[in-house]
Amino acid sequence: MNFDLTENQRMIREMVRDFAENEIRPGAAERDKRGEFPAEVIRKAGELGLLGMTIPEEGGGSGMDTVSYSLAMEELARVCPSTAVTLSVTNSVCLWPLWQHGTPAQREKFVRPLASGGGIGGFALTEPGAGSDAGSLKTRADKKGDRYLLNGTKAWITNAFHGKLFLAFALTDPSKGAKGMTAFVITPEMKGFRFGPPEEKMGLKASATSQIFLEDCEVPEENRIGEEGNGYRIALSTLDGSRVSIAAQSLGVAVGAYEEALKYAKQRRTFGKFLHEHQAIQFMLADMATEIEAARLLTLQAACRIDAGQERLGKVSAFAKYYASEVANRVAYQAVQVHGSYGYSREYPVERFYRDARVLTIYEGTSEVQKMVIGRELVGG
Ligand SMILES: Cc1cc2nc3c(=O)[nH]c(=O)nc-3n(C[C@H](O)[C@H](O)[C@H](O)COP(=O)(O)OP(=O)(O)OC[C@H]3O[C@@H](n4cnc5c(N)ncnc54)[C@H](O)[C@@H]3O)c2cc1C
Repeated sequence: MNFDLTENQRMIREMVRDFAENEIRPGAAERDKRGEFPAEVIRKAGELGLLGMTIPEEGGGSGMDTVSYSLAMEELARVCPSTAVTLSVTNSVCLWPLWQHGTPAQREKFVRPLASGGGIGGFALTEPGAGSDAGSLKTRADKKGDRYLLNGTKAWITNAFHGKLFLAFALTDPSKGAKGMTAFVITPEMKGFRFGPPEEKMGLKASATSQIFLEDCEVPEENRIGEEGNGYRIALSTLDGSRVSIAAQSLGVAVGAYEEALKYAKQRRTFGKFLHEHQAIQFMLADMATEIEAARLLTLQAACRIDAGQERLGKVSAFAKYYASEVANRVAYQAVQVHGSYGYSREYPVERFYRDARVLTIYEGTSEVQKMVIGRELVGG
């Protein structure tokens, strides 16, 4: 077993780290305070090839392997989780499934322009009444000649207002339930497409989230991805792969919070000593570092399995997402504790990590859903 990164993987990590330090870190806290989308950062990320990281070069992307992509996500989230999720959604749940399931013409039309740096995209599965139980969604797609009319409401859609296109799911045959679900590309300029107001979130303040209202939204037949009835399969296989990206983001949040805690522990003195000289604080740092290392191993294991072409990714990607997202929350909690009252202040970055960590055990499958995926495989269901 070899734990070394390749030369190329190390180079990608260094490149993204430099980008995160020089282009993202300087404005991250301010954008969080103002709830401002990082438009200029995303434009520069596009120039660097970070919008289509795993899309092959012939499709306009950067052709990275999944390990490199995970390293990149960790580096981005270590500095700004809002920027990381904006890019993760574009890469993992928008462009990747479009590349996997699109026809050559659809790849050219939908994937190439974004992957080559032209903008971000989104994924619209969740509805107000259907989150974990995505198979119970209600949005309908009724065929009318050479187009479909979509009616329904999508909820919690990341990259709202800024996304050029969204991979959306709707029922073409409601009598079949999840088996009647179909995937479509929808775009904000379509008749009958409307964003709701921005969600007022606890964290990830610089990422844009809203509902999408579809009212007789006219979607041409050539925007259907895959066959009618294949949508749920596309959604689930997308999430199996993308959970590695959320695991990597979680790892980045944990590392970012841990580094702040270590730095602070070396500056603050109590009872005549620096904080890091108290064994209680050292033990906290040791717990944080150990859990981070375990999360990193699970995340890279899942990424390696994807690169090796393993077909059944459910359990291995759920291990990584479940564990790393819980670790991010525990580490962010402890990082605030190490800071005392200052950790409760918006002046220190750990407060932002603490809020941003919270959603990691919720989106792209809650921790309970990850345990359902793991449990089903364990008992052979
Ligand atoms: C900031 C943010 C961004 C998001 N971005 C997107 C996006 O871009 N696209 C998109 O489609 N969605 C997105 N989501 C939605 C997200 O994926 C869902 O909210 C998530 O899957 C949970 O669904 P829910 O909120 O409906 O919770 P529910 O499904 O109602 O679950 C509520 C609670 O019950 C638990 N639970 C549910 N069923 C079971 C069960 N059978 N057994 C045990 N426990 C159970 C859950 O784990 C949870 O704790 C986003 C959400 C947030 C907060």
